[in-house]
Amino acid sequence: MKIGILGGGQLARMLALAGYPLGLDFMVLEPAADACAGPLSEHVTAAYDDPEGLEKLAAACGLVTYEFESVPAAAVERLGLSLPVFPPAGALATARDRNHEKTLFNELGIETAPFVEVHDLRTLKKAVAQIGLPAILKTRTLGYDGKGQQVIRSGDDLQAKWVAIGEVPAILEGLVDFDREVSIIAVRSVSGEMAFYPLAENVHHEGILRLSTCLPDDSHQPLAEDYARRVLKHMDYVGVLAIEFFQVGSHLLANEMAPRVHNSGHWTIEGAQTSQFENHLRAILDLPLGGTAPVGHAAMVNLIGELPDTSAVLQLKNTHLHLYGKMPRAGRKIGHVTVREDSERALQARLAQLQDLM
Ligand code: AMP
Repeated sequence: MKIGILGGGQLARMLALAGYPLGLDFMVLEPAADACAGPLSEHVTAAYDDPEGLEKLAAACGLVTYEFESVPAAAVERLGLSLPVFPPAGALATARDRNHEKTLFNELGIETAPFVEVHDLRTLKKAVAQIGLPAILKTRTLGYDGKGQQVIRSGDDLQAKWVAIGEVPAILEGLVDFDREVSIIAVRSVSGEMAFYPLAENVHHEGILRLSTCLPDDSHQPLAEDYARRVLKHMDYVGVLAIEFFQVGSHLLANEMAPRVHNSGHWTIEGAQTSQFENHLRAILDLPLGGTAPVGHAAMVNLIGELPDTSAVLQLKNTHLHLYGKMPRAGRKIGHVTVREDSERALQARLAQLQDLM
């Protein structure tokens, strides 16, 4: 079967890499001519909402998925008229809007940081009075990797902050003094089978994920799975879903969800029985899900902006290099490295060696 993917970046590329052993083919709809999934698929070079491009996908593919959540809703609706599109359109609509996703979390009994909607400078002032400072002003849509966000501290000029996020619908959210950031990768198939990977601890810098470390047997795993299960069932979800949390003591505050394979799950390629990419494909094809248990101790380091000496990386034992075929540019994710060792101690030692090369 041919799977259509909206978006042709590294997530589409890794989906294709996972899908070929299952006998699948891929077609991506992606406007960038040099899309890194292009060499692994039939590449339709057109805008995501281009009627002809969508028509090509609908005619050639058995089902469609996507690799990013800001896919135009109209494109998903149009495709949905002629073939299955997973994850479901409702999940996409919720996840693309921070106000909707946090409201849903709270409705499902999942804790979040306190947040309030902001429409203009007047409501921003009101929100600051309600939430207190420090706080973060975030655009409701199109924010990722720390984009569309401004931290507000006492004494800051609110007008300047409002202008800095582009004067668009937003939320103001309390700044959380978290112990750790963690995420869970969950997956649910068409027939409702569910599976959960071990939590990953995530380290961000300047809003961009740098390091994800798999946490086998973490004490917060049952709560994270319970929260993820509530979301999966409520949305009648199909595919991989990632939920990012701030861990504060025994609490998990949900920050955001991504209705797709996720950067904090890349460690699963070598570090779990079945990768998140393969399980996403199994889920949307209604195949049995693969095991999600960790294989050893794994961590993933993103390669951002520039490449290290790749032959030196390859000399490190138990280290796996993934290059996306993208031109290096400041702040751009151009690859990742996964380390898998037999013990936590060996993992930390290897990560230190890798860090010296970065
Ligand atoms: P986001 O785009 O919401 O995932 O935010 C990117 C990163 O900014 C998060 O992973 C955190 O490191 C940081 N961040 C976002 N929201 C908050 C918050 N309410 N409190 C503390 N840090 C935050």
